[in-house]
Amino acid sequence: MFPKYEDVITPLLFEIAKRGGRTAPTDRDGLGRSVYDALAVHFSLSQEERERRTSDGEQRSFWEKMVRWARQKLYDDGFLVPPVRGVWQLTGSWNAYLSEMPGLQSQGGDELVVFEGRLCERLHRFRERSARVTKRKKQWVLKSLGRLDCEVCRFSFQDRYGPLGSNFAECHHRIPLSELRTGQPTTLSDLAVVCANCHRMIHRVRPWLTIDELRGRIQRT
Ligand SMILES: [Zn+2]
Ligand SMILES: [Zn+2]
Repeated sequence: MFPKYEDVITPLLFEIAKRGGRTAPTDRDGLGRSVYDALAVHFSLSQEERERRTSDGEQRSFWEKMVRWARQKLYDDGFLVPPVRGVWQLTGSWNAYLSEMPGLQSQGGDELVVFEGRLCERLHRFRERSARVTKRKKQWVLKSLGRLDCEVCRFSFQDRYGPLGSNFAECHHRIPLSELRTGQPTTLSDLAVVCANCHRMIHRVRPWLTIDELRGRIQRT
């Protein structure tokens, strides 16, 4: 059975990273599989599915079209540089990061799971640091509440530090790691305003605590 379109994105990124961050989709991996073949094996596609043509009479198979759609998503999200002569290539910063990931060299079955976990963490931080959306979030909260208090402990940088702390807070991306996907835009409600201490505590344990869970852990003194 064909996977959902967006489920192809991370495994495709994995296949590109495994090939050193630069590959043509027809290049072979250590098992002699092209990117299309390796992903077809990953999703257990039948031979018939693998060869199925698109209904609009294109030369490409439906499967190739799906993988190309995922490639476009990776490009839109800033993982890939624009393709040159059919070569798909990671951007410098993602290549440096992904090439250091353990598990990419081996061919074991758990490697994709490890990869997805690490990638999700990275995406989480990446989205929290996305300056444009966190700025909009803080502006929106300030405008509607008049303050930027930590949603866990109510700490206010402005109250504690005066003008130095005005308009300062961190943002935590609340979508759980397991549900975080490439290709999914960050909305203002995905972000929670938190102080630096609470943010560190949220990320101290796995799975990460929710805002409510951390609030429940605060000791009454
Ligand atoms: Zn706090
Ligand atoms: Zn966070």
